[in-house]
Order: sequence, then structure tokens, then C-alpha cells
Amino acid sequence: MLSVEEAESTILNVVPSLNPQANVEMVNLSNALGRVLAAPVTSDHDFPHWDNSAMDGYAVRYADVADCSPDSPKVLEIIEEIPAGYPPKKTLAPGQTARIFTGACLPTGADTIVIQEETQRQGNQVKIFAAPEPKAFVRHQGVFYQAGAALLEAGIPLGAAEIAVLAAAQCPQVPVFRRLRVAIFSTGDELVTPDQALQLGQLVDSNLYALTALVQGMGMEVLPLGIVADHPEVLQDTIARTLLNADVILSTGGVSVGDYDYVERVLTSLGAELHIRSVAIKPGKPLTVATFAECVYFGLPGNPVSALVTCWRFVQPALRKLSGLSEGYWKPVFIQARSRQDLHGGGKRETYLWGQLRIVKGGYEFELATGSHNSANLVNLAGTTGLAVVPIGQSLIAQGEAVQVLQVS
Ligand code: AMP
Ligand code: MG
Repeated sequence: MLSVEEAESTILNVVPSLNPQANVEMVNLSNALGRVLAAPVTSDHDFPHWDNSAMDGYAVRYADVADCSPDSPKVLEIIEEIPAGYPPKKTLAPGQTARIFTGACLPTGADTIVIQEETQRQGNQVKIFAAPEPKAFVRHQGVFYQAGAALLEAGIPLGAAEIAVLAAAQCPQVPVFRRLRVAIFSTGDELVTPDQALQLGQLVDSNLYALTALVQGMGMEVLPLGIVADHPEVLQDTIARTLLNADVILSTGGVSVGDYDYVERVLTSLGAELHIRSVAIKPGKPLTVATFAECVYFGLPGNPVSALVTCWRFVQPALRKLSGLSEGYWKPVFIQARSRQDLHGGGKRETYLWGQLRIVKGGYEFELATGSHNSANLVNLAGTTGLAVVPIGQSLIAQGEAVQVLQVS
């Protein structure tokens, strides 16, 4: 049985990254949200593109206004007006100024902006009542970014801020990694779909919906395969067919040691390389990880909580790596929080307890979900935003003590 850390590093070692040569597509910038940038982006423009004013006011030669004060204002001649978007037409000579607005280009000869609050206009003249700092309120060309330098790196997720940068860099089409295709199915003769009437002994398949939601939430394409019977041939057919057109297969159930748990045997007979059989984690001990030439297989435990916990802890990091994200984005985020309740551990296995991460008076607190922390109880899983971790060998994290909490979504 591997430790959680060993399992995490084994998984991140055996899953590949998407190859940028073979897996790139161009998308419209307006459809790029949540995608992963597949190639570095540079711009031919400096940012700012030209020297411009950061305020509404007057463009001046600093030397003309260096000695101004309310008692001895300086009078300058206004030679033109420069709104944003219009190029200046004139050059400032000593004693001259241009009326200027935020974002407008500085005219030749000007080096400083006087904000309009420090001035009084009279016809084509303006009185300056205060000496500005030299170069005040000038945004100089290229101070934010110089043409040709790296602007965005490959492997970053595209959110609002990155999309703003791409728009400003005039990239209406963006190279992104194609979406991962993740096939998902549930195993178990006891399972029915949510719209079927329950017979004695049956159970509704919630895992398919949970895992589909989680994978869709990561912006990936799901191939939902439904419920697969506890029958080795049916299982083998399903996996053999699916591994040809999915990057990842997630199944739940059938990975334990029961007579009807066929996943591992079927994977072996299909020639998969088995990397993990079980992990010292509670809930979630029976976890199967295997690879085919072009497909990664995660056989997750059937219990609904175990399925989601192992997905959050092990599958999501793997999906992030597979999707082309660069290394800094793979690992799960742990937050140190103060526990609001006693947290009991499982001794020999790293224990994950579900609940809510909250910010109270500027610090994180963990609120344990009320009700049973049994891996078959999915009812109190609703609302979960964090999983508190009790390390191996520790039986208790007492109320008020610090605990590491895995942030989940
Ligand atoms: P297994 O790992 O197949 O032995 O399943 C362990 C437990 O999880 C059993 O009690 C199953 O009924 C339950 N279970 C398995 N698959 C699902 C599923 N898709 N949705 C909800 N519960 C499940
Ligand atoms: Mg089963």
C-alpha cells in the first residue's frame, strides 16, 4: 500500500503532458476562457504603445513650471487640444502647453503633465498654480512591456486577466490545447439511473454524475458511458472500446477485493501497466491506476465519498498535467486552518474529513460537516469546500488546533 504522497508522485510521473505539436487548436479569443495556452505569446507593440497622459490636464515642459506656486502662478499659451485617440499635431516651444486628456499622446516637447485641478483656464491661456514633480503623470512608452519579450507563457490557464492581455496583444485567435476526453462509467449490478424506480437492494448511480460534474467543471469533454455490469467480458469490451478514443478513463467500483471486483484483472488482461493498487488513505483505499499506450485509467472506489475524495486528491492533479498546464498548476492546494471541532484520524491511513473552509476574522477556519463521516454517506458531502487531513499515526487534531485542509471545487 502506497502512502498518499507516494501515490501522488507516482501518478504525476506516469501520466504524460499533452504534446504541443499534436494537440493544439486555434480558438476565438471569445471562446478561450478556461482553456490552456499551448504556445508562448509575444507582442510587436510596446506597452504603453507611446508616451501618454495618465490624467486630464495640461502637457507642459517641466522647466516652464518648476517654480510655480499659488502665489506666483505661471501663465502658458495653449496651442492645441489632444483628446485620447488623436495624434498631437504641434511641438511645444518654451511657454507653451497643450490641453490633454487621459490616455492621449504626449506632444513633442512636453515631458510632464499638470493635472487640471492645479490650473485655471482663461481663453487660450492657462495659469499653473503648483509645481509638479518632473515627468509627473506621464506613462512612458514600453515601461510595462517591451515589444518581442515574453508576454504569456505556454501552459497557463486562460482567465479574464490573461484574455485581456491577449486582446491587447491583438490575438483574436489563440493557440490552446485541445480539450481532454475523459470517459466515465460506473460498475455495479446494484446500480440504477436516477430516473429508474428502486427495487430492494438497488442503489442510484450518483458517481457518474459527480465525476462528470467535476470533469466538466475543469473544462474537459466527458464521454458518459453509464452503468457497466459486474461481468468481466462486458467490462473488458467497454474498456477495450473506450481506450481507443479517450485520453482518460474513470470508473468507479469493482476495485476492491470482493468476488465481483473485476477491474484489475480486466486491465491486466488488456495489457495495461498497473502502477497503483491501493493507497493508505481514508476514505479511498482501493485505488487502481494503470496506463495504456495512449490512455490513463483510474479505477476509483465505488463508495460515493471515496470516489470524490480520490478524484479531488489524485485525479484532478493528473488531469491538470494531462491537459497541458505547466507544473506549477498540478498540485492540490492545501490551506492551514484552525479546526472548529475535534478531528479524529484513522491511525494507519491518512484521513480526509469533509467540511467547509471559512475565513473568520482574517484567518481560515475548518468547519467539520455534521453527521456521519462514513464513506457511503454522501448526504453531508453537499457544501464541501475543504478536506481536513489527519496524518498517519495521529488519532486526534483537537478543536482550535491547526490542520491542513485540501481546498476542493
Ligand atoms: P464496490 O467498490 O464496487 O464494492 O462498491 C462499494 C460501495 O459503493 C457499494 O456499497 C456500492 O453499492 C457503492 N457504489 C458503487 N458504485 C456506486 C455508484 N456509481 N454510485 C453510488 N454508489 C456506488
Ligand atoms: Mg461493485
